[in-house]
Amino acid sequence: MISEILRGLWTTLRTMLRKPVTIQYPEVKRPVRTRFKGRHVLKRYDNGLEKCIGCSLCAAACPADAIFVEARENTDEERYSPGERYASIYEINMLRCIFCGYCEDACPTEAIVLGDNYELSFTDRRQSVYTKEMLIEPAPVSGKITPQRVPAGVFTRSVPEMHDPTD
Ligand code: SF4
Ligand code: SF4
Repeated sequence: MISEILRGLWTTLRTMLRKPVTIQYPEVKRPVRTRFKGRHVLKRYDNGLEKCIGCSLCAAACPADAIFVEARENTDEERYSPGERYASIYEINMLRCIFCGYCEDACPTEAIVLGDNYELSFTDRRQSVYTKEMLIEPAPVSGKITPQRVPAGVFTRSVPEMHDPTD
């Protein structure tokens, strides 16, 4: 009996001097692994135009049917993305998503990327649908927000030219 108490006290003393393994979340956040797949982000080009061209390939590839895309036509007076079309509606239902990354793999313009944000709490089912406005990244300092008025005949190509297709 005494020996067990002493053993317990020794365990307490021993661990008291060790560096704690717990972190004070949410004040301190643990860095994620390089290949971590967190909340999606819709990316922009450096000029601020959206990379998403509304092709719906991500929705077709999604095994959980979590993505809804509706596309509209761009004009040079009101341009959201290079090429013909842009996503006027882009939604992901996070309750369905299994974070497999197939949408990322299917995207021809690298518009949808699974980022490092893992804070996905909500209290209502309706809040689980993340809209385009929630997913799109802010315009870069060198660029402008969308829609943009652009010179005619410049942004005719939906998918950027790849210098090294194996990259
Ligand atoms: S990560 Fe997978 S399940 Fe989630 S939206 Fe993309 S393809 Fe669908
Ligand atoms: S995110 Fe990519 S695959 Fe999905 S609609 Fe936009 S361009 Fe197409």
